[in-house]
Amino acid sequence: MKNKAIFLDRDGIINKEVENLYKKEEIVLIEGIPEILKILKENKFKLIVVSNQPVIARGIATEEEIQEINREINVKIKEKTGIEIDKFIFCPHHPNANVEKYKINCECRKPSPGMLNEAAKEFNINLKESWMIGDRTSDIIAGKNAGCKTILIEKEYSYKKIEGKNYDSEILADYILKDQNKLVEIILKEKKISKAIILSAGLGTRMGDVTKRIPKVMLELKGKPLLLHNIEKLKEYGVKEFYLNLHYLPETIINYFGDGSKFGVKISYNLEPELLGTSGALNAFKECLNEDFFVIYGDVIGKINFENWVKFHKEKNADVTLIIHPSNHPEDSDIVEIQESNSKIINLIKKPGNKNFGILGNAAWYIVSPKIFEFIPKGNSDFIKDVFPEMLKAGLNLYGYNTLEFLSDVGTPERFKKAEEKFKT
Ligand SMILES: [Mg+2]
Ligand SMILES: [Zn+2]
Repeated sequence: MKNKAIFLDRDGIINKEVENLYKKEEIVLIEGIPEILKILKENKFKLIVVSNQPVIARGIATEEEIQEINREINVKIKEKTGIEIDKFIFCPHHPNANVEKYKINCECRKPSPGMLNEAAKEFNINLKESWMIGDRTSDIIAGKNAGCKTILIEKEYSYKKIEGKNYDSEILADYILKDQNKLVEIILKEKKISKAIILSAGLGTRMGDVTKRIPKVMLELKGKPLLLHNIEKLKEYGVKEFYLNLHYLPETIINYFGDGSKFGVKISYNLEPELLGTSGALNAFKECLNEDFFVIYGDVIGKINFENWVKFHKEKNADVTLIIHPSNHPEDSDIVEIQESNSKIINLIKKPGNKNFGILGNAAWYIVSPKIFEFIPKGNSDFIKDVFPEMLKAGLNLYGYNTLEFLSDVGTPERFKKAEEKFKT
């Protein structure tokens, strides 16, 4: 797994900007920054400072003196929070340097992305999942050039020209903030959805003899159980914790997956002596499912871009986002009616028996907010019959994510065959 990082400009972001900082006594950390860094580090971000230090090129300070300042900054952060910045990188160069050896057009001086790229190699960083935080246009452009998301903390000097070029970073930064207070909120809002419940209790009666000996979710597609296909896909996106409800031949599943550690994930189970239905299965995991999570029907398999789906869910500020797609048998599908302008769901009809409600079918994978637990009754219940309609009535935001990506229930031998075809490539 690749790491993600927060790249930070130093002067003006970590410590107060003073002219030519090379004396330890002049280091003043910006209030709140050590605590912010601690939270980001706890959320698995590498912390990497990337700063231009033209004071070296000008002959005002040496590289050693700058390293000493950086060490001292880390000492101060550690005293406050117990954590440290993982690495300080700085560019000592300048095209008009007084000190001859630093007088080069280097690739590290921001707005070039050299320092970010160097760190990405050393720490195995996925730059797309990383952020650049700075107080100057050059920081933002460096971040953009490296492929990171960017945050400008606006100062009076933020938009000063760089080497005669007038960059307009108001257009460029993904977020522009007045101070550091919202940093954590913004960065963690883009956090991955890390939990999923996979409904795994189904009997698979429609599959005939093949499911007499194994649970439906353990049927092999391309030599791998359906359940493993789904766990691997979700893990690849970023899910770490899985919750499975079991009923039919539970030991087959438990023996195969155990606690998930063999597969690099964490799996918890709930055994249902009597089936609790699709939504009823969630209640057992209520304590753990305390942030937005995926609901995956275990007998549905697909090639969904989870990143795009989650982005849609967040942009809509949705309480539930259902994947929907055109059905060629709407009369016996669960049909979803949406407002065309914004994809907001206005009605859900379980197997309407006619084509009066359109053809957008529920593909049976959801992202849901924990608010859903207020609407799930005790015992057996069903999302489409019992839960989603009540949420709509209560004014919650349900959205349909209409995609043509492959996603299919493989609960019948014909559909299973079709999925096998799709998974060949
Ligand atoms: Mg700065
Ligand atoms: Zn340089």
